[in-house]
Amino acid sequence: MATDGAKIMKRIHDEEIEWVDLRFTDPKGKWQHLSMVASALDEDQLTDGLMFDGSSIEGWKAINESDMVLKPDLDAVYTDPFSATPMLIVFCDVVEPSTGELYARDPRSTAKRAEAYVKTTGIGDTVYVGPEAEFFMFDDVRFENTYSSSYYKIDDIELPGNSSKEYEGGNMGHRPRAKGGYFPVAPVDSAVDIRGEMVSTMLEMGLPCDKHHHEVAAAQHELGLTFGTLVTTADRMQIYKYVVHQVAHAYGKSATFMPKPIKDDNGSGMHTHFSIWEGSKPLFAGDGYAGLSDMCLYFIGGVIKHARSLNAFTNPSTNSYKRLVPGFEAPVLLAYSSRNRSASCRIPYGTGAKSKRVEFRFPDALANPYLAYAAILMAGLDGIQNKIHPGEAMDKNLYDLPPAELVNVPTVCGSLREALIALQDDHEYLLKGDVFTKDQIEAYADIKWADVIRFETTPSPVEYDMYYSS
Ligand code: GLU
Ligand code: MG
Ligand code: MG
Repeated sequence: MATDGAKIMKRIHDEEIEWVDLRFTDPKGKWQHLSMVASALDEDQLTDGLMFDGSSIEGWKAINESDMVLKPDLDAVYTDPFSATPMLIVFCDVVEPSTGELYARDPRSTAKRAEAYVKTTGIGDTVYVGPEAEFFMFDDVRFENTYSSSYYKIDDIELPGNSSKEYEGGNMGHRPRAKGGYFPVAPVDSAVDIRGEMVSTMLEMGLPCDKHHHEVAAAQHELGLTFGTLVTTADRMQIYKYVVHQVAHAYGKSATFMPKPIKDDNGSGMHTHFSIWEGSKPLFAGDGYAGLSDMCLYFIGGVIKHARSLNAFTNPSTNSYKRLVPGFEAPVLLAYSSRNRSASCRIPYGTGAKSKRVEFRFPDALANPYLAYAAILMAGLDGIQNKIHPGEAMDKNLYDLPPAELVNVPTVCGSLREALIALQDDHEYLLKGDVFTKDQIEAYADIKWADVIRFETTPSPVEYDMYYSS
């Protein structure tokens, strides 16, 4: 029988592929690549991997120990529809040449170890993850507007310094009002064709998708990627972002997954749904609250317990915490409910056991999907292993509760600084099964502390407004 390497060689030949683009993800979540001339590749390189310089990736090897192996995952091969000449995208794991083991700081390897760890616990054999990544799309006027103080516009309304009030007044024509984008048809929704092209591109690449829609804020969008297993879904999220950026760019727009680009309007989240299965048996379905099993409730309990340290992975930017404020459908309180969207953990209505799952609403799409999904899973598994009950559900609009009722309800972190401190204090649950390592967590935190320090020591335009003439 042909090896996987031989199968890809045949595909290169049959489809006249000119490029094999080796892709891997750095700790920040950015997709990186190395383009190989297809005709110069051999089967052994595809099967065993190729050397590359790991020292050029922030947070990886020191220069004196820089040689690393990019090992193609031949089950994760896609055609790149954006390349001018036929190109295959091949997802790679990063391997230590000295030991042949997966590199501890490689995020995709972490997600692979997380998936393997679940099986060793006896809890279940498959974890399904369903992310909903929201994004904004603006006219890209960088070139024609170089001398302006503003780089981006929504049509002809300048950003930043924006506020929803600035959308009002004058003849708004077919433009969506602030918070008025959710669901009017075209021409108010002017991005139907662009989103449609994004989804058709993903379908063409073999990704399962089921919808697209405008989101609540002006110029905000979401594409429906169907759930899948953990590593595969993280791979698909990398493709999702790539397709969004590429198609937006082709239309003269720029897309951003920045969680809160516009003041006073909804931000962009990456709600993430989880369920665990054993074979064809959905283990989160039961006869408890909202049709959930005890296992699911404990999973929620674990995520709530560790949420503040999870924030370092799920909400990894200084901007992330501008989204996690009341009033914009993003969660603040660490509570669970089947009824309202103000809870961090929502149990969506579903018709049957097979659709029982829990939606965590705090993550945003700047998260490295491999690290974020793996970390949430580890928190949930810790909850199951230690039977951490999440307490009573909160079926009220949490934003409307009087302060006295909220004093004992924990909250997500208020800043990236808080999240990094929480991660320092609470990370043992991530180390089980060597899924994450201490060294990896420290290297990741160093990268994120640099953002915190840069942000905290840079005067902001808002400070000029508040203090310059005081
Ligand atoms: N954009 C909201 C958020 O920041 C979510 C809106 C929705 O429920 O889809 O989480
Ligand atoms: Mg949404
Ligand atoms: Mg959602």
